[in-house]
Amino acid sequence: MSSKILNNFLNENIAELKERGLYNEIDPVIGANGPEINIDGKSLVNLSSNNYLGLATDDRLKAVAKDAVDSHGVGAGAVRTINGTLDLHLNLEKKLAEFKGTEAAISFQSGFNCNMAAISAVMDKNDAILSDELNHASIIDGCRLSKAKIIRVNHSDMEDLRQKAKEATESGNYNKVMIITDGVFSMDGDIAKLPEIVEIAEEFDLITYVDDAHGSGVLGKGAGTVKHFGLQDKVDFQMGTLSKAIGVIGGYVAGKANLIDWLKVRSRPFLFSTAVSPADAVASTRAIELLMESTELNEKLWENANYLKAGLKELGFDIGNSETPITPCVIGDENDTQKFSRRLYEEGVYAKSIVFPTVPRGTGRVRNMPTAAHTKEMLDNALKVYEKVGKEMGII
Ligand code: PMP
Repeated sequence: MSSKILNNFLNENIAELKERGLYNEIDPVIGANGPEINIDGKSLVNLSSNNYLGLATDDRLKAVAKDAVDSHGVGAGAVRTINGTLDLHLNLEKKLAEFKGTEAAISFQSGFNCNMAAISAVMDKNDAILSDELNHASIIDGCRLSKAKIIRVNHSDMEDLRQKAKEATESGNYNKVMIITDGVFSMDGDIAKLPEIVEIAEEFDLITYVDDAHGSGVLGKGAGTVKHFGLQDKVDFQMGTLSKAIGVIGGYVAGKANLIDWLKVRSRPFLFSTAVSPADAVASTRAIELLMESTELNEKLWENANYLKAGLKELGFDIGNSETPITPCVIGDENDTQKFSRRLYEEGVYAKSIVFPTVPRGTGRVRNMPTAAHTKEMLDNALKVYEKVGKEMGII
């Protein structure tokens, strides 16, 4: 018999979320998650994936993944520290270090669990973390898990950061102080002010941690936000994910050899959760090689992003202050935003609405993620739909 208390809890809370319009219905994709997708038998231009370079469906990656299944099987068989470390995981980590210009790297099963693992492996209750208020949920959870004092910093406000860094270090209350930030902020597409952050870190001897989930493959000709600013020697943790531009699954930290050695003995998901599959490891490695060999996909991504942004702007949409391919289309009111996204869907464009509490109230937006795999024709079709729905709803 199932618990009555649990049933009541679930039913009441799900009903409440549905009433407030906060219950997220999932749209399953039939087939591959490419530039066009099939949902419920309907073909749509896909503007909602993080598959920035189109690598999730790249034939070159599929080929090495298939070979890895034949040579290594479908599973790693154990956690990394028992005997789940395969030659393919080591190849991946070597390639990641090369890609990021660091002494070493460690890989994890996802970006989310990487943040949970890496932050809590280094920071503890005697430490403090200065965290940008718009940092990703996985950073917030990693900080909480560490039990360090979390000091929220106003978004990209360097005066606030400096003041709080000064107070934290001069208080004498903490052994270590870390500054942690997204490299590219995922809801608005703005870039962290890394040169100033690094300067403040140097002044107060802060540990620097950059989550570059949305910068890798995108900025710095693909190498990421830290490289974009030429700060490879000044950032302690270059964290990233293998699930967005790289197109596969996994997370990583690149940094000094002693940091990586420590993470290998103190990161709980590395110690207690099975390693990514051989196919994942080899596909990620090949993807990074492709990025290092040629900037073609990166250039195509920017060409498409600039094209879509210019088109939306010309139509009269508010696309915020994005400095990257992430292209928000700010609608404002939560209900209007959801209706707008639904109408786009009906007309053949998949662009998800993002509303409070993910973004502040009254700043609801439809977020567009153009990729290198989109054709001009797909983007033109999307723009036509935007024009039609925008006029129909009186937004433009
Ligand atoms: N950090 C940021 C900034 C992200 O946007 C995401 C993905 N939503 C993650 C970490 C987590 O990465 P993954 O999807 O690989 O778990």
